Parts: sequence; C-alpha cells; structure tokens
Amino acid sequence: MKITIIGTGYVGLVTGACLAELGNDVFCLDVDEKKIAILNNGGIPIHEPGLAEIVARNRAVGRLQFSTDIAASVAHGQIQFIAVGTPPDEDGSADLQYVVAAARNIGKYMTDFKVIVDKSTVPVGTADKVSAAITAELAVRKLATETTFSVVSNPEFLKEGAAVEDFMRPDRIVIGCNDDTAGENARALMKQLYTPFNRNHERTYWMDVRSAEFTKYAANAMLATRISFMNELANLADKVGADIEAVRHGIGSDPRIGHSFLYAGCGYGGSCFPKDVQALERTARAYGQDLLILRAVEQVNDRQKHVLGNKIVERFGEDLSGKHFALWGLAFKPNTDDMREASSRVLLGELLGRGATVAVHDPVAMAEARRVLELDFANQPEALQRLRFCENQMEALEGAEALAIVTEWKNYRSPDFEQVRKHLKAPVIFDGRNLYEPTVMSDIGFEYYGIGRSVLT
Ligand code: NAD
Repeated sequence: MKITIIGTGYVGLVTGACLAELGNDVFCLDVDEKKIAILNNGGIPIHEPGLAEIVARNRAVGRLQFSTDIAASVAHGQIQFIAVGTPPDEDGSADLQYVVAAARNIGKYMTDFKVIVDKSTVPVGTADKVSAAITAELAVRKLATETTFSVVSNPEFLKEGAAVEDFMRPDRIVIGCNDDTAGENARALMKQLYTPFNRNHERTYWMDVRSAEFTKYAANAMLATRISFMNELANLADKVGADIEAVRHGIGSDPRIGHSFLYAGCGYGGSCFPKDVQALERTARAYGQDLLILRAVEQVNDRQKHVLGNKIVERFGEDLSGKHFALWGLAFKPNTDDMREASSRVLLGELLGRGATVAVHDPVAMAEARRVLELDFANQPEALQRLRFCENQMEALEGAEALAIVTEWKNYRSPDFEQVRKHLKAPVIFDGRNLYEPTVMSDIGFEYYGIGRSVLT
C-alpha cells in the first residue's frame, strides 16, 4: 500500500521503516531539512536498536523515501499518518499546532480520498480538529468535503529503546474509526494495512475515535501512576527501614498487580509520561473535573527527581563546592539517546548549582546530552565548565567523592567493583535505579544508597 508518514521522529521513522519492511511503499515527510538530509545520506538521526538496518534495506529497494516536499507527500499515500510532536503547551495541555499544520497541508494538496491517521498522542477531540482543518482548506479550494477523507485515531504504544520490536510485535493495535461511509472505507484500508500484524492472533481493538484517543492517555497515566506509587512507598520504606525490592516482589506476585512497572527509582522522564499525564489533567480541567490521582502522580515524580540530590546533600552537606562527583547515565532510560525530561538533568542542576564538579558518562546519549545541557545551563556558563563528558565509564569515576547512577544501562549493572573502588576517591554509590544489592555492596565495602532500600537489620 502507498503510505505517507508526516513527521520523521522517533514514532514516524519507526512506523515508516517498519511498514516499508512489510512491503509497503512509504514516503516519510519532515519539515526538518537537516533530519531529511541525514536520512538521505544513509544516516539515522536517532538511536534505536535495529532501526538503521531496516531503514538501509528498505531505502535500497526503493520502498522508503525521505523528503521535505509536502505536495509530493500528500500525493503519495492514500493513508496519511500524522506522527508529529505534541509537546506541552505553556499550561501543560498538548500543543496541537504541528498536528493542525500537517492537517492543513493535506487539505491544501489532496485530490482523492485520503485516510488521515492520528498516530501522534493527541487529546480527545483532536480528530475533529484535524477534520475541521482539512475541511477549511478544501473549502478554500471550493472542493466537496465529507466523503473525500476520514480521520482515524491509531495511537502508538511503542517504547523508545525497543521501538522496532514493539512496532513489529505489538501487544495491541488500537484503531478508532467513524461509522459513516468514509469511516467504513477508512476502516477497510486500516484493516488491510495491519493484516500482517494480526496473522498470529487478532491484536486489533476497533473502537470509536474518541475512545481510541483516550486509550493512549489512559495507558500512559496508568503506567506513570504505578511508578509514582512505588516511588512514594520507596521513600517511606527508607524511613521505616523496609526494602522496597522485597516489597515489589511481594506484591508483584499477585496476578492482579503483576510485576511490570513497579520499580522504584529517581523518577520517570521521557517525551511521553510527563507530558501525557499533564495533558490528561488539562483535558479533565477543561471539562470541570480535577484528576486528583494524576495531579499527585505528577507531584510525586517531580519530587522524586530530587531524591538522589537530596541523599547526596544529606551525606555531603548543602555546599558542594570543591567536591567532585561521577554520574553514570544521562538518557531518560536505557537504549535511547533521548534526553527529554531526563532525571539526570535535575540531578546535574542540583550538583552543579551547589558548586560541585561532575564527570558524566552515557554509552549513547553524550552528544544529545551536550546539546540539551548547553541549553539548560545557557545562563550559567560557569556551571557548565564544571561538567566533564567522559567516553569511558571508569574514567568518569576518577577522584570522585561518590558515584550517582541515573540510567539503568546494561553496562552499569555489573561493573568491576574493584575498579570502581580504585577510581573513586571513596567507595560511595548513590544508585537511582536500584541496580545493586545493598548487602552485597556493604560486604564489599561500599557505602551504598539505593531508593527505598535502607532496611534495618
Ligand atoms: P519527535 O519530536 O521525535 O518527531 C516529530 C517530528 O515531526 C520532528 O522531526 C518534526 O520536525 C516533525 N514535524 C513537525 N511538524 C511537522 C509538519 N508539519 N510536517 C512534517 N513534519 C513535521 O516526536 P516523537 O517522539 O516521534 O513523537 C511524535 C508523537 O508520537 C507525539 O505525539 C508523541 O507523544 C507520540 N508518541 C511518542 C512515543 C515515543 O516514545 N517517542 C511513543 C508513543 C507515542
């Protein structure tokens, strides 16, 4: 099938590449000329395991093309996926300007029936706005409207770091269609497109458009809630002398609770949970409802991003000037270079803000971190000078008072602790992801601070 993907970011590029891999003829559009140039020169602008190979293979056989040509992109696909960003607006609601701009472009150039698929995470009711934007452009061109297009909601559930695998083997595919004639046509085309994903068993959940839009927010809100819930309990566990890891096993074994997403840590980040929780709250507020639980989820997470900084201050004092720390892990989670809302940024703000020097390491996100941190500290160039990027994780430890771990990359899980001790000035670890066992660490002579692991013995 001929498919257009509007927005070639994490979601758009993965969607486009994976649909091409299944034999579709895919046109990926982006307004970012640099991004398109990188892709057309055989590069990949993001880090995502397995993606480079799929992109290269499908480009080579001509099933995947990248362009900034809007008219050509509209002409190409009978199905037009909108996968542009929906960042938070000033008040926390989703900023739909990119979605609406993409819709307008479709309306400006379309000449035949199109299915417009909202793949971006968008608030309930956005399909109507997309529809209105297209209709307005068609009206300018004095073209008939209702039957010439249909807007479908098909939210994306992939996880960065495992995006290709998630897209190719989704737990579920959620598709919301209208039940008018155009909607029925759209449904038939979407069914055809997703047939290869349903071979093993049916994974598609068909619903109305608003429910599909809502489902994505409900999923992210639930996952964020589980994390904040565990973080809040972990902080209490630290006070009462219990081990949150033991508690996690104890409750996760109940099938009604399950083991996933119960890890305590130094807060969730990324481009989705923080903004989607906020956006759902704002949607609720627009309808006169206060989502109390989600408000707390957000507050707990904001506080949790300071938990490592607080533990460090408790140990080393408020004034950290002249003190040197090592930090492992910059990306908001492993297997990605995404620094959006990463907890490392909050910790670095605290350490550098209190006068410390910091040496950081991340296996993949160093370039992106440099770019983002330069912006974070644009008004404090002096603080930025106290930050050093190290290509080698052991080198980052050299002479540090303590190591803080923020991202649970595999290469931090089982380091040579003898080497760690040798490089550090003192054997002190603040583990924001509970990678190590406190008893083992104490046996091998480390002063160890996890999250919710201050068990009394
Ligand atoms: P991104 O910022 O990586 O990519 C968005 C791309 O859209 C950018 O390259 C930008 O240049 C481009 N763009 C903006 N306006 C455009 C226009 N008018 N025409 C063409 N291109 C345009 O964003 P992302 O992380 O891929 O997220 C996209 C959407 O998917 C968001 O709504 C997000 O919430 C949702 N989502 C993201 C993830 C994730 O893990 N990143 C997972 C599920 C859903």
